[in-house]
Amino acid sequence: MKIGVVGTGYVGLPTGVGLAELGNEVICIDKDESKISSLKAGKLTIFEDGLEDLFVKNVQNGRIRFTTSMQEGVEQADIVILAVGTPPNPITKEADMKYIHAAAKELAQYIRGYTVVAVKSTVPVNTGDSVEKIIAEQNPKGEFDVVSLPEFLREGFAIHDFFNPDRIIVGANNARAAQIIAKLYEPFAAKTKILYVHRRSSETIKYASNAFLAMKIQYINEMADFCEKSGADIYEVAQGMGLDSRIGNKFLNPGPGYGGFCFPKDTNAMAYMGRAFGVDLSLIEATICGNDKRKVNMADRVLQAVKDISAPKIAVLGAAFKGGTDDCRESPAIQIIQILLEKGAKVSVYDPQAMDNARKILGDAVVYAPDMYTVAKDADVLAVLTEWENFKTLDLQKIKALLKTPKIVDLRHIVNRETALAAGFEIFSLGIK
Ligand code: NAD
Repeated sequence: MKIGVVGTGYVGLPTGVGLAELGNEVICIDKDESKISSLKAGKLTIFEDGLEDLFVKNVQNGRIRFTTSMQEGVEQADIVILAVGTPPNPITKEADMKYIHAAAKELAQYIRGYTVVAVKSTVPVNTGDSVEKIIAEQNPKGEFDVVSLPEFLREGFAIHDFFNPDRIIVGANNARAAQIIAKLYEPFAAKTKILYVHRRSSETIKYASNAFLAMKIQYINEMADFCEKSGADIYEVAQGMGLDSRIGNKFLNPGPGYGGFCFPKDTNAMAYMGRAFGVDLSLIEATICGNDKRKVNMADRVLQAVKDISAPKIAVLGAAFKGGTDDCRESPAIQIIQILLEKGAKVSVYDPQAMDNARKILGDAVVYAPDMYTVAKDADVLAVLTEWENFKTLDLQKIKALLKTPKIVDLRHIVNRETALAAGFEIFSLGIK
């Protein structure tokens, strides 16, 4: 099939590459000229495990191309996938539809023959209706349908998740559009549940899922706080909870709060929709509030470890919002660093992939270390803020020799507590007294 993908960000690019790998002819469109010239030059614009190999392979075999021209990407396409951003409105926190609406308006004029416009961006309920209206106004003779095709990939696992989705949700209001999408997802049909629902249900499934996962994170974080005071061990508690199949063992890892481009904005957007529809979504409201407070509490835990030192030097491992990605948007690590700086600490930071993105936010306010040991040189404490796998291999003796005082604040359950204690460290681990 011929597919146009509008937006080459964390969703659009892995989606485009994945669809090309499945044998489709893909054109990725972005209005950001620097991204497109990079991609045309064979240089990836984001880090995702496994993306590079597939990208190179499909560029070489000509199945994927990149352009800034909407016309080039849309006029031949059977399906046009919208994967542009839906950032929060800075004041109301509702999802801002300006990129979706602008893209719909722009693509409308290039629709030739029957085309399915699939909205993959996370969008409020009824967005399909507004996109349909915009396209019909711009191109009254255009033959098209708008479907909702929400994306559930996890950053850091985008390629894995593209090829192994838990489920595929299709919000199509008529059979013709549903059949085209069924053809697109045929390679998955044997092993993946493809659920066809009303377009508004599909739009809501995405928000309801993300809000639920955010609540689960906030819940286990509250339990971790409880364990710290009560003397229980959160990891034993989480394991015991997770053995109940009704609860499940995923998303029961305590941490510094959820972050990234999705959960914060999607919980806020869902809460906004609840208020707009006059529905009490108090669980979601409480989750947002608890998660916001958590970053401040976590910075306090780090400062607690160096409370007797004025202007302490804090070595931070991790800047990305989670391991496996270079994405620092709404990263708890970055937010904690910012609070530490406000409180007068000096911070050095190391992240295996997110240094460039961290620098865009933090500028010269911190020192950027070249590796996970140099960061600790002469620091009063080491704070682990992102769960990168290679941090698990830290040589504690080497770190101890570099730190001014052997103290670790582990907000990601990365450092083995017993080993650290035996090595003479003072260690704070979340959820353990
Ligand atoms: P992103 O900001 O990384 O990428 C969006 C891209 O769209 C940018 O490159 C931008 O230049 C481009 N763009 C905007 N308007 C355009 C236009 N008119 N024409 C062409 N290109 C245009 O965003 P993202 O993280 O990929 O997220 C995209 C959507 O997918 C959002 O709605 C998000 O909520 C949703 N989503 C994201 C994730 C994730 O893990 N990041 C997961 C699931 C769903």
